[in-house]
Amino acid sequence: MSKMESENIYYEGRIKVPYKWYVGETGSRFFIALRDKKEIWGIRCPRCRKVYVPPVKNCWECFIPTKEWVRLKDTGTLESFTVVHYPNEVIPKKPPVVYGLIKIDGADGSLLHFVGDIDISELKTGMRVRAVFADERAGNILDIKHFAPIP
Ligand SMILES: [Zn+2]
Repeated sequence: MSKMESENIYYEGRIKVPYKWYVGETGSRFFIALRDKKEIWGIRCPRCRKVYVPPVKNCWECFIPTKEWVRLKDTGTLESFTVVHYPNEVIPKKPPVVYGLIKIDGADGSLLHFVGDIDISELKTGMRVRAVFADERAGNILDIKHFAPIP
């Protein structure tokens, strides 16, 4: 086989495709509470008692429906973080952008979100943070603008 027959040529490109998808009954309830009440709700598995936030319809470990809604605080602990220093069209903020894994008080697992109102040099795992809600909310995860350190 000659090189001409075995070589594959690729062109890189990007496409933007508008789309819309239903977040489900569980997701809708979660996002409506964020939008209308600035409240963070999780959902508890009746068997293992794990509290998920964002809520899930079925427990990932027990594979049974979660049922019990749990009102959570707007506070948590920064478990991990990374700082993005370059602009990217999919990141709706100017760099530097801080992504954090936040363990919301009363929940198991972590929520990935932005960390803001902080000097990057002051970031540290284990720091306490509080949700800062967007002034205008639309029923999505960005209704929480970011999590800010608790002084
Ligand atoms: Zn479970």
